[in-house]
Amino acid sequence: MIAKKELKFFTLKDLDRIPELSKLPEEELFGLKLAAKVFPFRVNNYVLEELIDWTNIPDDPMFRLVFPMGEMLETQHYYLMKQGVEEELPPKELKKIINEIRYDLNPHPDGQLTHNVPLLDGEIVRGVQHKYRETVLVFPSSGQTCHSYCTFCFRWAQFAGMTDLKFATDESKRFQEYLRSHKEVTDVLFTGGDPMIMKVQKLKIYLEPLLSEGFEHIQNIRIGTKSISYWPYRYLTDDDSREILELFEKIVKSGKHLAIMAHFNHWREIETEAAREAIRTIRSTGAEIRSQSPVLRHINDSADVWQKMWKEQVKLGVVPYYMFIERDTGAHHYFAVPLAEALEIFREAYSHVSGLSRTVRGPSMSSTPGKIAIEGTATINGEKVFVLNFLQGRNSDWVKRPFFAEYDETATWLDELRPAFGEEKFFFEDELNKILRHKAIEEKLAG
Ligand SMILES: *Cc1c(COP(=O)(O)O)cnc(C)c1O
Ligand code: SF4
Repeated sequence: MIAKKELKFFTLKDLDRIPELSKLPEEELFGLKLAAKVFPFRVNNYVLEELIDWTNIPDDPMFRLVFPMGEMLETQHYYLMKQGVEEELPPKELKKIINEIRYDLNPHPDGQLTHNVPLLDGEIVRGVQHKYRETVLVFPSSGQTCHSYCTFCFRWAQFAGMTDLKFATDESKRFQEYLRSHKEVTDVLFTGGDPMIMKVQKLKIYLEPLLSEGFEHIQNIRIGTKSISYWPYRYLTDDDSREILELFEKIVKSGKHLAIMAHFNHWREIETEAAREAIRTIRSTGAEIRSQSPVLRHINDSADVWQKMWKEQVKLGVVPYYMFIERDTGAHHYFAVPLAEALEIFREAYSHVSGLSRTVRGPSMSSTPGKIAIEGTATINGEKVFVLNFLQGRNSDWVKRPFFAEYDETATWLDELRPAFGEEKFFFEDELNKILRHKAIEEKLAG
């Protein structure tokens, strides 16, 4: 039996209440305190007590996952902050510096806020993104926070209060109406933040209507969550844990597929008794758990980590799903792994696991045109190239049409790649521009 744990959050103002931090050399602790003012910081008692190995800080990957460090700031930003703090600037002025740094960190990568918002009767459906034909993303307004914040999160700007939660749908029926009128949609993916931060009563408001008449075309309900890593007690001992599991059972009994899209960055996250019990319990409802993660410098940039993670997952009944490339935002310079290296990590890990783990795809970039996987390298007519492939395309017809880019050892994203064989552009570019222009006009008309 797992004993009940009460969720306790620690934020910037509570740093002094985490005594283990005093084990850090003074300069590192100073850097941590600077970085925690710039990047959103939140951690809970489970992560502090059960995940982090305090004998191995700051190198412990679980520590790096949640604690901002001085090195996550670029040098010039570090010195700006250091100066501001040492000169004891009034809070308002320090805030100004913090905001300038944040705007320097590409807070809204890849047109996140604007490109994929759908329309219904000529009006924007807030809190919904519809990019790939079959799958609609929903951002419940009360699910836009997490049980801890990841230092590398590409949605960090939202937690830093830089967006007006434009995404977040209110409890209104708009997204349901939208789904009702889009029969091509088979999948609804609830995301955030972390939707599992919501109490069961809130969750029901979103999930239960999809089980009723008019939504027969919705075959798969997915919930994107890091709760198994950050708060497994969500499924074990929280006051509404029992009801959460009953809700999952109800969805499965209705005949739909319920997929928990878990976010695991390292095998350490599924080593604790609580995490394992949470996985067992969720699976006992009939829900499937799939897993995804970006490849991250300082956290999981080794084939061994991935290999072990996939094997452990398969053993626990979790299906490896995606390896992502980290987006260019926030502390990107700290976490970035070049595409060529990510490919090697993937290849090396993939070649050492059985077919049950080879459900995983990647490394993949969630970019403006679509999810693009780096499938491998090849030498064609004497030119070394990356072989790329759309796993998802803004136009679904782009999928599974391998294309080529010049091999580039340092590139970390699509926009740094050039078409191979001296071609001027990639095959999808003209059409992509047309689609984006069309969307922009539509959105302007919708106001
Ligand atoms: C990844 C993603 C999806 C889901 O794609 P699958 O390949 O079906 O998992 C849907 N919408 C957006 C915007 C995505 O980035
Ligand atoms: S749990 Fe997900 S959304 Fe929340 S901070 Fe981590 S990566 Fe970001």
